Amino acid sequence: MATASAALKQKGAGVAFVPTMGALHEGHATLMRRAHESGAAVITSVYVNPTQFGPREDFNQYPRTFDADCALCEQAGVSLVFAPADEEMYPSGFAAVSTWVDELQVAKRLEGERRPGHFRGVCTVVAKLFNIVQPDTAFFGQKDYQQLKVIERMVRDLRYPIEIVPVPTVCEADGLAMSSRNRYLAPVERAKATVLSRALRAASESGETDPLQLEALIKDVVAGVPEVRLDYAEVVDGQTLERISRVRPGDVALIAASLGATRLIDNVIL
Ligand code: AMP
Repeated sequence: MATASAALKQKGAGVAFVPTMGALHEGHATLMRRAHESGAAVITSVYVNPTQFGPREDFNQYPRTFDADCALCEQAGVSLVFAPADEEMYPSGFAAVSTWVDELQVAKRLEGERRPGHFRGVCTVVAKLFNIVQPDTAFFGQKDYQQLKVIERMVRDLRYPIEIVPVPTVCEADGLAMSSRNRYLAPVERAKATVLSRALRAASESGETDPLQLEALIKDVVAGVPEVRLDYAEVVDGQTLERISRVRPGDVALIAASLGATRLIDNVIL
């Protein structure tokens, strides 16, 4: 991969990188097209990273659709797909990882609190992928807002010479944020899942600047669909993800909720 990436770089237009876990959809395709439009050669990784899943999470069930993923990549202008084996990414095994990369500030709350070790797994695998691919730019979706901010901080802290390019969330026609996990939803659940984006839209259109009021508004909308179990609804600083006392432009409302066994996240920048 390193040799192939260096060869692409030789051509002069730079290398843009889109890391993914596969089960690709239009959200991923949008990242790839943005990367392609930047003029660079695009490399996508498809790797379901075991170390970012908790012991009771969906690593084993996570959808794996590699042939369809490759077809989508080709359509979206990707030059190379990197699909490493576990032994290549974790030569000493995942049970005995010897070196972690752990961002400790932005990763602390919200997803970090609910999913211990998740961002440590994300940072470690992204650091490894960056070192292998050595891209000039890397494209990340705002769908995983906290992840995007954690990666931005990691890149700054570790002085990676890589520009992180954020891409707005791509949604289904009814507002549900696209996610590989949406395919877990039964049809009745799928219909109810739209309450997440409805709640966030109500918040962003309210003009309210008190974070507690905004959180209450989001919770009220979600409570209208009792099958949806709210995990958190928080309005926080758009950079640090810390609690705030008053909303300013660029702050963000984040939501996580479960429907049956499926956990969904979404957010809106206010
Ligand atoms: P994943 O395969 O879920 O790890 O996601 C790979 C990349 O695609 C991450 O940067 C995600 O934030 C991004 N992504 C996933 N879903 C969407 C979406 N609906 N809109 C924009 N980006 C997305």
